[in-house]
Amino acid sequence: MSKLNRATGWNYQPSEPIKYNPLFDFPPKLDLIFGWMIKRWVSISRFLLFFVLALILTKYLTPSLSIMGEVDYSWVTYLFMRNTALLFLVAGTLHLYLHILKVQGDDYKFLKKEMAKNNKKFKFRNQVYDNIFWSVFSGVTIWTFYEAIYWYGVANGIVGTSSFQSSPIQFFLWILCLPLIRGVHFYSIHRLLHVPFLYKHVHVTHHRNVNTGPWSGISMHPVENIIYQSSPLIHIFIPTDPMIFTLHLILVTLNPAFTHSGFEQIKNKKTKLLDSADFHHQLHHRYFDCNYGNMDVPLDVWFGTHHDGSEEATKAMRLRMKGAATK
Ligand SMILES: [Zn+2]
Ligand SMILES: [Zn+2]
Repeated sequence: MSKLNRATGWNYQPSEPIKYNPLFDFPPKLDLIFGWMIKRWVSISRFLLFFVLALILTKYLTPSLSIMGEVDYSWVTYLFMRNTALLFLVAGTLHLYLHILKVQGDDYKFLKKEMAKNNKKFKFRNQVYDNIFWSVFSGVTIWTFYEAIYWYGVANGIVGTSSFQSSPIQFFLWILCLPLIRGVHFYSIHRLLHVPFLYKHVHVTHHRNVNTGPWSGISMHPVENIIYQSSPLIHIFIPTDPMIFTLHLILVTLNPAFTHSGFEQIKNKKTKLLDSADFHHQLHHRYFDCNYGNMDVPLDVWFGTHHDGSEEATKAMRLRMKGAATK
């Protein structure tokens, strides 16, 4: 069982500093780059699970193109219900396992605190109910809206597609590039969301969660969800296998349930099942002005907003904030 570190406030903190994708190291070290990609996609990871899920969704759980070619509420409502069920399956299961049944206790839990109750900062005075509300009515609505636009475009020949059979190399390149596209997109839009006006009126809905749980992932103001979930729209402009579009969309919508889960690893007794939350984003929820991106593209390092979790990094960040305030 981990112990609360009174100096840092963390219940658990990785012993190693945060590492980024070695693709951007110079000189390049091929073995490290290959190892990073393998860890991301080939090991039994949630990315592999998302790949299988995207395949099932596209092949079996999406209405036929002949139905989606018409503007009609029935298939859009079906997509909304299906996506809500998926979010409950992923975020709900993680919440049940980690925060209600507490199967692994506080092991690998970043903060000792529990999800807030009786706190007027949150809707219904309850952080989990508040987060479910925003995740479904804002998150799933935008998710379904973008998905419906894409499929309506495909069904009517407005949006071009390719397939694994016709361009297998392009298919694999997309898979390798998705984390990079998301890394650049997330960093850019996240910096934008921290512009004071947008922060105050929009991004604050997500940031009230200083302590996060699986339901905090896409618990965002609708305007933030419109901006945040926009990266899969790239497939409207570049013909892709529709399965890649589905994969991209669920990486944006379901993956945050893991990255906000509050636990670095999910375990069953002593056995590690999956990597879950990343300390990098947890630090952003605590300190705000650092770690705007993710670890796939080291934009935080390049733009001087990186925080590796150490006390020195906290001091450097405070100095940077002080410098910005006195300018
Ligand atoms: Zn977040
Ligand atoms: Zn933020």
